[in-house]
This record gives sequence, structure tokens and C-alpha cells, in this order.
Amino acid sequence: MHGLNALVRRTAETLRSAVAADVFVPGDRGYDQARQAWNLAADQRPSAVVFAESAADVVRAVRFARAHRVRIAPQATGHGAVPLEPLEGAILLKTSRMRRVDIYPATRSARAEAGAQWQDVTDPAGQHGLAALAGSSPDIGVTGYTLGGGISWLARRYGLAANSVTAVEIVVPDGRLVHADADHEPDLFWAVRGAGGSVGVVTALEMALYPVPELYAGALFFPIERSSQVLHAWREWTGTVPDELTSVGRILRLPPAPEVPEHLRGRSFALVEAAYAGSAPAAAGLLRPLRELGPELDTFATIPAPALGRLHMDPDQPVPGAGDGTFLADAPAGAIDALVALAGPGVDTPLLSVELRHLGGALARTAPGGGAQATIDAKYLMFAAGSAPTAPLGDAVRAHIQAVIDALTPWQAGYRYYNFADTPAEADAVLPPASHQRLREIKAKYDPDQMIISAHPVRPAGY
Ligand SMILES: Cc1cc2nc3c(=O)[nH]c(=O)nc-3n(C[C@H](O)[C@H](O)[C@H](O)COP(=O)(O)OP(=O)(O)OC[C@H]3O[C@@H](n4cnc5c(N)ncnc54)[C@H](O)[C@@H]3O)c2cc1C
Repeated sequence: MHGLNALVRRTAETLRSAVAADVFVPGDRGYDQARQAWNLAADQRPSAVVFAESAADVVRAVRFARAHRVRIAPQATGHGAVPLEPLEGAILLKTSRMRRVDIYPATRSARAEAGAQWQDVTDPAGQHGLAALAGSSPDIGVTGYTLGGGISWLARRYGLAANSVTAVEIVVPDGRLVHADADHEPDLFWAVRGAGGSVGVVTALEMALYPVPELYAGALFFPIERSSQVLHAWREWTGTVPDELTSVGRILRLPPAPEVPEHLRGRSFALVEAAYAGSAPAAAGLLRPLRELGPELDTFATIPAPALGRLHMDPDQPVPGAGDGTFLADAPAGAIDALVALAGPGVDTPLLSVELRHLGGALARTAPGGGAQATIDAKYLMFAAGSAPTAPLGDAVRAHIQAVIDALTPWQAGYRYYNFADTPAEADAVLPPASHQRLREIKAKYDPDQMIISAHPVRPAGY
């Protein structure tokens, strides 16, 4: 592939007229804003940014890239921008203006354009008493999240979001807009459900919704000094709960920032967050052992499904962050001790959050006709993150995260979670080996020249 740099000035106008969309190249007023990702720590410097407004724009952009032998990186929000390979010489194809969502209550399904954020789906779905398998934050992109798997507050009940996708519209690298489902283009359909966006540019996804109008959800906050007691109790408790309950055990250091509620601002906690898709009395019974520990704050209440987007208290504006995570085959008491030793009370750490998500349930059962992550052979998922407003602070956060990952080595599963691998990693590090092999064959068939840049690169078979 030739870089676009040499061609930039000469071809900028050609690109503009070819794609009929907003295009920014270096030197343009607006380029710096256009290249920005949700994660402000990502310093993306593509040779052009194209803002697609329709599937037709995507087709034109992909055909332009093919004709000019330029690589192309689709992006919705840039929540997952940090692990991307450098974009010099490439087109950054932003889908953020393609946010149309249609809800079909009769079939309990939705169609979301590639730039839709989860709140665009969960809010209108909630009006029909339906829930989507959404991410923990309302402004996460539906597409990137779902392509990489998608672990929601309903994950133990309904599995990965990717395995609830029923059809995909995708522009393949030869420039064709293709409809893929179980009966059409089954390889493409398989690959986009869990193996990321490496085989084409998705323009829309269709997905199942679930009849969950309300949940009993919230958090129990304990002083950070009680981390060991609380996380051990939570871990034991996770062995007793039904699939309708998905929970997180977490150590959280809240910054002294104005957007944090005053009573929590600047304080550090051990906490358990959970969502139960069932009745409040049943939930109260399930929570009793943890409530008996005497939390300082108990926010559990019956909430409408769209409000799940606030439960994890993720930043709701773009921020500079560094994070990383790993699947754990199991988390026995020793794993909790290791985690508390590196993130618990008295530890000098820049990590704002270190969490364990409880997996299992539907995630552990093979989804019938599922995609590249049809099942997850790991009982827990660790994720740690901190603020990275400068490069040195980012390095410090990453060093501390790596120390946590290293300490958990004895319990790590064979591969990491695609969506939480937020440092550069090839696809073999974030997929089951058999899925990675099949993905390489599909990549060779659809994108042998590696025109598509994806979060975790996959080399075509035979490459
Ligand atoms: C605050 C926060 C909370 C999170 N919570 C969760 C969570 O609860 N559960 C979970 O599973 N993950 C979670 N994640 C991880 C998140 O799912 C990934 O970062 C994901 O990549 C975000 O998707 P996006 O579309 O918003 O990001 P983007 O950076 O826009 O996209 C990420 C990647 O997806 C691919 N992609 C995007 N659009 C297309 C397209 N149209 N065609 C082809 N490929 C495409 C590309 O490879 C792109 O690099 C969280 C991340 C953050 C920052």
C-alpha cells in the first residue's frame, strides 16, 4: 500500500468529490478536531479523516481507498482508539454521523447504524420495555463494542452482545455493500460477531432485544480499608448467584473532580456493583450476605433498563485514559489477595479503578450458531484503568496495570478480552486459537492486502 501522505494535497480534492462527505486533511482548519477520539490520550494522525453520513459514503470511501491503495480505519467514537496501529498514510473513516436506530417491538429487535451509541438504542428500546446488551457507558459505540464481543450488565443471562447480532450490513474491501446473516455470507457474519472489524466496514447491525423493562441494580460502597474482606466475600458470593445477576467487585479511587458527587469526591472505596434481572424481593434475598457486611452507602433500587448506563460510573465525556485487562480462568482467594496487595489500602497507585467482572452463566455456554467468541472459557474479567493526561502519567498507569496483570498470571485464561485489550495486541492475543485461525482464512479471502485497519490486526492466512 502506498501512503496517502505524498498524495495528500493532490488528491484531497479528488477524495472530497469522490466520497461526497466531509473530508479533513492535515493543514485543514478542523483537522485536529476531526482526528480526535473519545479517548483523548489517542494521538491519531491519519492522512485524511472522512465523515461518512450514509452507507453510500462508506462505499465511496472504501472504493477510493482501494483505487489509491490506501489503508482505511473505521471508527465510531474512538473509545477503543488507543490500541490502533499508527494511522499515518491511512484514511480514518468516522461513522459518528450515522446514528439512526430503528426499534421493532413486535420482533424484539433493533437496527443500528454504525455510528450509533448505546444510549441511542437503550433509550428507545426501554420505551417498549426492551433492553439491549449494552456497554457499561451510554456513549460507547454499538458497533465497535459488539464486534469485539460486548459484555453487558445482562451478560450472564443473555451472553455476549455479538452473539445477539442477527444480521450485518458491511462494505467489504472490494467496495461491495453486503448483507450478511446466518444464510448469506456466513464467514463474514461469523467474523464480525466477536473477531472485531477486520474484514470490512460495517454500516449497520441488527440485533435481538430482551424483555427486561426494569432491574434491581446499584452498588454497595465500603471504605477502601475493607477491600480484602469485601472482595473475598464478593468472590465467594459469585459462586452462589443465578444467571440473572451480573456483578463487579471493584476498588475505586474517585478523583476530587467536580463531576463526582460531593459525598464521594476524592474518596476511595471497595465496592460491589450488581444488576439483577428479576424482582426486588428476590434481589434483596440474594444481596443479604453482602449487605450484612454493613456498607457505608447502598444505592440499590429498581431502575429502568436504560439507567444501567450509569451504574458503573464511567466518565460521560471524552477523557484521556489508559486501561487494560485480561480474562481470568478463575479467581481463587490468592487472586483476590494479589489484587488487593497492588491496588488496595495504603498502596501508592495511579490506578483509579481495578475491577473484576463476574462472567459464567450464558457466557460459559456455547451460543448456538455463535460467532468468533461463541463461548468464554473464563470465570472473571479483570480491567484496570487510570487517567493519562500526559505521556509520563500514561506510562505510570500502564506500568501499574502491567504489575496487576503480571500478579494475576497464575490465573490468566489463554487469551485476553478483545474489547479490554487497550494496548496494541494482535488478534491472536485476544481470540481463542481456533477462531484466530478461521479469521486468518476469512481475512485472506476478503482482505488479502490488509486494507482495513482494525483494533487488533489479523494477518491473512499464508501471509
Ligand atoms: C468507558 C468505557 C467503558 C467500557 N465498557 C465496556 C463494557 O461494559 N463492556 C465491553 O465489552 N466493553 C466495554 N468497553 C470497551 C469498548 O467496548 C471498546 O473500547 C470498543 O472498541 C468501543 O467501541 P466504539 O465503537 O465505541 O469504539 P471505536 O474506537 O470507535 O471502535 C473500536 C474499533 O471497532 C472497530 N469498528 C468500529 N466501527 C466499525 C465499523 N463501522 N466497521 C468495522 N469496524 C469498526 C474498529 O476496529 C475500531 O478500531 C468500554 C470502554 C470504555 C472506554
